Amino acid sequence: MAVGVFDLFSIGIGPSSSHTVGPMRAAAVFAEELKASGVLAHVASLRVDLYGSLAATGHGHGTMTAILLGLEGFHPELILPAEVEERLAGIAGTGTLNLAGAVPLPYGVKDMVLRPLTVLPRHTNGMTFTVTDAAGAVVHTATFFSVGGGFIVREGEEDAARQELEESKKELPLPFRTAAELLEHCAATGLGIADVMLVNEKASRGEDEIRAGLLHIWSVMEACVAASLKREGVLPGGLKVRRRAPDWFERLKKECADGQDTDQDAAWDAGPFDPRYWQEWVNLVALAVNEENASGGRVVTAPTNGAAGIIPAVLFYALHFAPGMDKATGADRDDVVVKFLLAAAAVGVLYKEQASISGAEVGCQGEVGSASSMAAAGLAEVMGGTPAQVENAAEIAMEHNLGLTCDPIGGLVQVPCIERNAIAAAKAINAAKMALWGDGTHRVSLDEVIITMRETGKDMSHKYKETAMGGLAVNVVEC
Ligand code: SF4
Repeated sequence: MAVGVFDLFSIGIGPSSSHTVGPMRAAAVFAEELKASGVLAHVASLRVDLYGSLAATGHGHGTMTAILLGLEGFHPELILPAEVEERLAGIAGTGTLNLAGAVPLPYGVKDMVLRPLTVLPRHTNGMTFTVTDAAGAVVHTATFFSVGGGFIVREGEEDAARQELEESKKELPLPFRTAAELLEHCAATGLGIADVMLVNEKASRGEDEIRAGLLHIWSVMEACVAASLKREGVLPGGLKVRRRAPDWFERLKKECADGQDTDQDAAWDAGPFDPRYWQEWVNLVALAVNEENASGGRVVTAPTNGAAGIIPAVLFYALHFAPGMDKATGADRDDVVVKFLLAAAAVGVLYKEQASISGAEVGCQGEVGSASSMAAAGLAEVMGGTPAQVENAAEIAMEHNLGLTCDPIGGLVQVPCIERNAIAAAKAINAAKMALWGDGTHRVSLDEVIITMRETGKDMSHKYKETAMGGLAVNVVEC
């Protein structure tokens, strides 16, 4: 299937789309195959090999525990955070995994084989599952790659998947893979970027369903912030990073109410909103989402988990602070949400098609940079930008994220990731504002900057591609 808005915005658990969501999905697919092929009853032992970046940073990213849950048959979009804790405690306590939800098998994190220095040809995020029978004969094996944003590809099916993608694009009314093609559609139809995306989405589902789905995505983003603001203390993983969002929220409420007491039972997004503090609100939303992500909570990949705070933060800005929209109510606000997410997704498609949204492939520019660019496009769109201005906003945001490396301390999606989301959200807002004060003409096109991001990623040392072997990851003492 062609990449759609619900591929780029999918519901999962933290802390990483490529290292948590993708591996859980792959393990769940493998478990389903065992069931469907009838070999499950013959399984006597299991082996999981993790390669490259998955092995290097898997512990910090929750890869191994996500795989255990996937092997039990859980899917990232359905499992609840409470179930995660309960099942992981069960597996750790008994040393036994319930394979495909049906066959108890002695297995745990320590049994996984880590090969951080071995990178499989297709992608650095490789994993192989193998099961054998009582006689030691292999009854089923499969290798998967987690290619970013929670997407997985099975070894040997890369060409078929690519072919299927190309075929499915032919069925789209307004197919595009480059910004130039997207702008051509806008010029030919008179539609905006969000509407071009909507026309294509309608090839696979009705408009009501699309709208309801996108509003649900936004509600999950909001729920993620609400959950995070109630959780104090330090983030898991041993870095002792304190959750800042709850304290910031209390302070922000007071500042916006000029020191008056506020309704403690009011929803977190009930205001009051003082425009003097728009930046602090944007920071708060980004921090809250990423702190929740870092603790394994429910998040929307947007387009990845590590960058999950940027789009909610900028959309929050659009709804509450962007000129002309702060007073919008009810259905108007829903329109803003839908339009914002569609325009952002159109730009996300360009990154998926021409470069990568995987930190393990191109560094953090592919994760935080892509999200910042998508958010800038969404904001420019809902602020009334022309297609050329929206394209310009996306270009500016990525241009100033080029070269951004991935160097998470301790392999955890915490430092620099959490603050980086807030900074990238601010860049997205500034990029949209700059583009809207122009006429859409500009020297560097979005396609040129996307290709530059891809090439920069190719040239980047593997130390800076989600291996925790370079940058802050090696220059900061972990504790
Ligand atoms: S540094 Fe960027 S790409 Fe790397 S884990 Fe953090 S957010 Fe993801």
